Amino acid sequence: MDHLTPREFAAQGREVLDWIAAYWERVEDLPVLSRAKPGEIRGRLPREAPERGEPFDAVLRDLDEVVLPGVTHWQSPSFFAFFPSNLSGSSVLGELLSAGLGVQGMLWATSPACTEIETHVLDWMADLVGLPARFRSDGAGGGVIQDTASSATLTALLAARERATGFESNRVGVRAPLTAYGSEESHSSLLKAVRIAGLGSDNLRSIQAHPATRAALPDAFERLVEEDLAAGRLPAFVSVTLGTTSTGAFDPLRRIAEIARRRGLWVHVDAAMSGAAFLCPEFRHLQEGAELADSWCFNPHKWMFTNFDCDCFWVADRSALIRTLSVTPEYLRNRASESGEVFDYRDWQIPLGRRFRALKLWLVLRHYGAEGLRRHIREHVALGQEFLALVEAEPDFEVLAPAPLNHVTFRYRPKGAADPDALNMRLLHALNESGALYLTHTRVPAGIGLRMVVAQTQTTREHVLAAWRRIRDTARSA
Ligand SMILES: *Cc1c(COP(=O)(O)O)cnc(C)c1O
Repeated sequence: MDHLTPREFAAQGREVLDWIAAYWERVEDLPVLSRAKPGEIRGRLPREAPERGEPFDAVLRDLDEVVLPGVTHWQSPSFFAFFPSNLSGSSVLGELLSAGLGVQGMLWATSPACTEIETHVLDWMADLVGLPARFRSDGAGGGVIQDTASSATLTALLAARERATGFESNRVGVRAPLTAYGSEESHSSLLKAVRIAGLGSDNLRSIQAHPATRAALPDAFERLVEEDLAAGRLPAFVSVTLGTTSTGAFDPLRRIAEIARRRGLWVHVDAAMSGAAFLCPEFRHLQEGAELADSWCFNPHKWMFTNFDCDCFWVADRSALIRTLSVTPEYLRNRASESGEVFDYRDWQIPLGRRFRALKLWLVLRHYGAEGLRRHIREHVALGQEFLALVEAEPDFEVLAPAPLNHVTFRYRPKGAADPDALNMRLLHALNESGALYLTHTRVPAGIGLRMVVAQTQTTREHVLAAWRRIRDTARSA
């Protein structure tokens, strides 16, 4: 087969866009959680790669027959599991444009627009989510798009490690007994980052969380830091979570950051999911103390209508990051870099190569406008609050953690229930097997809880009310 001509590409492309649009129209009717058994999808693929090229129609057919049965429909309006990975038509078009331009933005010089639009859009975003000016690129800070929050946390930790050791660990390896801190409710990516950065998992301290609110306890953090200092260790990094994965808890940023800064720790904020809420001024009390952070990340690819992957990551002092990650072989040298007038984003991330991810964020911002984004975020929060009220009003159900936004953790607990954990797991499986919605669970001190997260692009009040009716009715027969 020859290459597609640009005209042939356009013709097939129209079919693909139509296929996607039709998928979005019918996704509501598909069972949310895939029913595929292990190996079932592979079993439908030929043993060997095609020797001869195939017509495009055959591929489109297989999308329906082979692929869709193995897809869990993250874009279903009844997807309430984990955290969302929501998207919009605008972001998908931005993604397509990025693929079509096919540029590598590793250096400013390899595509100035890729770097400059990213820097500019991240300055916009910093303002839009109410971050202090020190994170903007016109001061000492700046923003960059990482693939994920996991990469943002690792990148921040590497810079913290270097800052704490006078940039020596890069040269001699990690010799100082560095310690890092995060709530016991921190995301698992923190432990992974600690391992990769060479600190050793024994040097990650788990800050006790409040038994009811699940927010990290500042006094417990301070004690851990003091113990480490007394033992001759070097506390270097603390990750503060705004919106934990388990229950959506908010760590007390200001109090933790004040303790950390007195001892020179790097303060990283992981607001991967809930950072989008800060588009709305009325929710910014949950990020109070932001001016004390050294780095900050949130994922537009969760709750800001921007398809995966897109994590906004800001630092207050970009020089620490660049000094940590910059390695310049002769073949990457160029006049623009040497002028000192440009950002080379390869020095702000772990890989060298990078996509033009800013395009999709730019398209999203231009389509919705800040006012449109706020309206949709507020709708989700209002639906989350309505669901919360329904759970609270039902005597056989209880809410297990504070739910200030769109994430409600709850369980079924009829009087005299012998084993509420087993009961709730049975309920969860029955709900998910119905195909009508998808929820996931967590564990809090009281036991197993179910998590309801309202943040899908197409979710309306009807979907939330239908989910609640089904949860209540299924519980009665579980
Ligand atoms: C989702 C999430 C992560 C991980 O996000 P990735 O972008 O998939 O790495 C980390 N922390 C929190 C608080 C999250 O919600």
